[in-house]
Amino acid sequence: MKFIYLLGSTGSIGMQTLEVVKKYKNEFKLIGCSLGTDDKKNMNILDEFQPEIASLRYRNQMDNYVDKYPNTKFVYGDHGLIQISQYPKKGLLINALSGSVGLKPTIEAIKTYKDIALANKETLVMAGDIVNQYVRQYNVKLYPIDSEHSALWQTIDHENKDYIKKMVITASGGSFRDLNRSQLKDVTIKEALKHPNWVMGAKITIDSATMMNKGLEVIEAHHLFNLDYENIETVLHKESVVHGLTYFIDGTIKAALSISDMKIPIAYALFYPKRIKHPNDLELNDLSFKPMDYERYPLLRLAFKVGKKGGLLPTVMNAANEAAVWLFLNEKISFLEIEDIVFDYVNRFDNVEEPTLDQIIATDQIIQDEIYKKY
Ligand code: MG
Repeated sequence: MKFIYLLGSTGSIGMQTLEVVKKYKNEFKLIGCSLGTDDKKNMNILDEFQPEIASLRYRNQMDNYVDKYPNTKFVYGDHGLIQISQYPKKGLLINALSGSVGLKPTIEAIKTYKDIALANKETLVMAGDIVNQYVRQYNVKLYPIDSEHSALWQTIDHENKDYIKKMVITASGGSFRDLNRSQLKDVTIKEALKHPNWVMGAKITIDSATMMNKGLEVIEAHHLFNLDYENIETVLHKESVVHGLTYFIDGTIKAALSISDMKIPIAYALFYPKRIKHPNDLELNDLSFKPMDYERYPLLRLAFKVGKKGGLLPTVMNAANEAAVWLFLNEKISFLEIEDIVFDYVNRFDNVEEPTLDQIIATDQIIQDEIYKKY
C-alpha cells in the first residue's frame, strides 16, 4: 500500500488524481489532502477517502467538518498546506496546487522525506535550484505530472544523459491561436477559457493563451532535466498529440504521444515504474508542426531570457503574471494588459543572484500585493 498526499484535491488535476486513486484503492491510501471552498465536493472526498488529515481553505469552514468527521484531523489555510506536507508518514505527495502557494509545501514535504509528483510548475520556476538541492540532500524522488515533462521523462528513461542533444516541448497555441495580435485587443474571458484541446483550470488556460504556460514549462524543464536553455526548444503543434521530443546525438529522436488526458501522466507518476491500462488508444492521424512564433507570443521569449538570467527574476515574472491573470479573470484588466504588467515588472527589477527561499517567497508576495493594490 502506497501512502498518498494530495494538495489541490478539488482542482482539475486533483480530481483526476482522486479518480485514479479510487480506481486502484487496493494500491493507494490517501493519508492527507487539501480541500477547497465547495463543501459538497469536499465532503464527497472525505466520505470516499477518509484521510487522516485534511486542510480546509478557511478557518470558518472548520465548524462544519470537525464533528462530522471525527477520524480526520482538520487544519486550514496556507499553514494547513504545510501541516499536510509535514505529516509524519512517508509517502508520495502530489502537488496539484495552482500558483506560487505551491512552493513551500513542496519544500516541507521533501524535508520530511516524501517523494514528490509535481503538477505545480511554480515550485521549480521560482526555486528550481533550491528544490533540486533538497531533493539530493533528502534523497527523495521528484516526478513531473505536467504532460510535456512526463513525455520528456519517458523519452529519457534508461538513457544516458550525455547522449541528449536537446529537448523540444510542444505547444498547442491556446485558445487564441488563430487570432493575430491586433485581434487580441478585445477578447473576452469566456473566449480565453475555451482551450482547443485540454480541459484545465482557469489560470493555466489563460497562461496557455498568452503562452506564458509554455514559458514556465521551459524553466521547469531546465530544472527537471538539468538542461541548458540553449538545448530547450518549443514548437507549435496544434493537435496536442506529441507532448515532448528528445533529440539524441546520434540523430535519433524519441517522442511520446498520447491522447490529451491528464490521467495518463498522473498515473505514470503514481505507478512509476509500472504502467497501468488506459481504456482509449490514440488514433493516428495527420500531425502538424510549425516553428514557434515569438512575435506572436512575446511572453514565451521573455521566459527564455528570464530563465537564463535566473536568480529572483523567474519569481518576479511568475508573480506579475499570476496577479495579472487574476486581474484579467476578475475583469479588472484586458487580455493584452497581462503582457504589459509582466514586462513592466521584469524590466524594472534589479535581479538578485542565488536568492534564499525566504527572499523568493517574500518577493512573490510583495509583487503580487502591489499589483492587486494598483488595479
Ligand atoms: Mg503542460
